[in-house]
Amino acid sequence: MKIYDCIVIGGGVVGTAVLDRLARYDIATLLLEKDDDVSVGATRANSGIVHAGYDCKPGTLKAKFNVRGNQLMWPLVEELDVPHLKCGSLVVADESGRDGIDELYNKGVANGVDVEVFDGVKTHEFEPNLSDSIKWSLYAKEAGIVSPYQLCIALADRACLNGAEIRLEEEVVALAQDGALWTVTTNGGEYKAKTVVNCAGAFGADVNDMAGAEHYDTTFRKGEYYVLDNTERQNIQTVIFPLPTSAGKGILVAPTADGNVIYGPTSSLCDEGDVAVTLDGLADIRKNVAKTYRNPVVRKCIRTYAGVRTIIGDDFVIGKSKVVPNFVMAIGICSPGLSSAPAIAEYVEGLVCEGKTQKENCVTTMPRVNRLSEVDGDTLNALIKEDEAWGRIVCRCEKVSEAEIVRAIHSPLPAKTVDAVKRRVRAGMGRCQGGFCATRVMEILSRELDLPITEIRKGRSGSNIALYSVKEVPND
Ligand SMILES: Cc1cc2nc3c(=O)[nH]c(=O)nc-3n(C[C@H](O)[C@H](O)[C@H](O)COP(=O)(O)OP(=O)(O)OC[C@H]3O[C@@H](n4cnc5c(N)ncnc54)[C@H](O)[C@@H]3O)c2cc1C
Repeated sequence: MKIYDCIVIGGGVVGTAVLDRLARYDIATLLLEKDDDVSVGATRANSGIVHAGYDCKPGTLKAKFNVRGNQLMWPLVEELDVPHLKCGSLVVADESGRDGIDELYNKGVANGVDVEVFDGVKTHEFEPNLSDSIKWSLYAKEAGIVSPYQLCIALADRACLNGAEIRLEEEVVALAQDGALWTVTTNGGEYKAKTVVNCAGAFGADVNDMAGAEHYDTTFRKGEYYVLDNTERQNIQTVIFPLPTSAGKGILVAPTADGNVIYGPTSSLCDEGDVAVTLDGLADIRKNVAKTYRNPVVRKCIRTYAGVRTIIGDDFVIGKSKVVPNFVMAIGICSPGLSSAPAIAEYVEGLVCEGKTQKENCVTTMPRVNRLSEVDGDTLNALIKEDEAWGRIVCRCEKVSEAEIVRAIHSPLPAKTVDAVKRRVRAGMGRCQGGFCATRVMEILSRELDLPITEIRKGRSGSNIALYSVKEVPND
């Protein structure tokens, strides 16, 4: 049986960032993910903000990894060709909020973050659509936005190109250590590894228990959102936060890296996996957005969604287990975990790869790809001459061609479901939410994967969309 140097459990942004780092070394690495794709846990449903790091309590792991993660993120998303925008962020406050702004400013300075206090005039010049009551703001120019799932997928793709293995739909159900080797048992088989890294998100504490490592209690907080049509994007320049409270960073208004606008998230205690959007949650968002933003336009909503934060105590849990050897934890990674992921990965690399040699000729910059929504007419004509699938537009809302969908299906970590295609190329993310293109994406998946249409799934196992082919139904 193959012995892996390292097995990473969990294919969220933390696990894939770790795998991407480890894949540069001359070692055998494997990532096990229980779901049908990477990026489908908390990494799928968050605000996509790369926080500057002024909000974290100085001296915490959150502060350390957020600030370093922000520094690493901007070159990383360039290398990986992931949609992003370093648009800065504003924490805004009315007249009574000056003390809160000063408090955040001082935390920012203590964390080494470049922050600036704006008065009302400068604040409104910077972001003209703020509510008239806003009189102060804290500006952080290092903040911005990324596509969280595309970042995670690109990290997984690059890790695969550099020789790492990823196995999807393999849930780790048991861990046992015998001498220097771990046996990792999944629903699909058994693997041996010298080191295990636990990046299992909501199930991080359970995986720790399986390994006999430190026990932690977990709580969960749901965040609900509105997503607005991309026509609203022109009305917002930056990420707008209210002053934070003990429940979190508050309900923001922000552009997304893909050109939409989001309002949210709420913050309410919930059960693990509870991603139901509620009327109360949406009402809470509408009420709070109106306090900071002049013209909230929820009628432009094209979708709502919710994500769940996994919370262990007051800080991240990152480091080697003190109880069991060769077991590394990166769990309890709630916000700002997306921003921190590159730095967490850098740190875990140091723990796992000390004394190991880096491979030569690793892929660092991912090859640039064409996107129909971005290319000019001449380029498009040239692309169609090479491959006529560039001329077949599958998703009209987001302008996605058949060629891009085929590319996603044959990418290093292949897209095998309708949702996996959607996360990679945005087919179905627009105003009609897949009403027009979903069946065409299914046909392309069926053809490219050589599977009957009835086996094409929306996402997880059991989510098959077509039950039978109409033409084959006996006409009686
Ligand atoms: C509402 C909300 C808003 C947020 N906004 C931001 C933000 O704007 N900026 C920011 O920096 N952070 C933000 N965050 C935090 C950020 O989303 C998370 O910190 C980050 O996504 C955590 O990544 P992860 O890899 O630890 O977990 P996940 O993405 O949940 O990944 C864990 C993976 O492990 C897999 N897994 C679990 N158990 C097993 C098992 N037994 N076997 C195999 N696989 C397993 C899961 O299926 C999952 O895919 C937000 C979070 C939420 C919920």
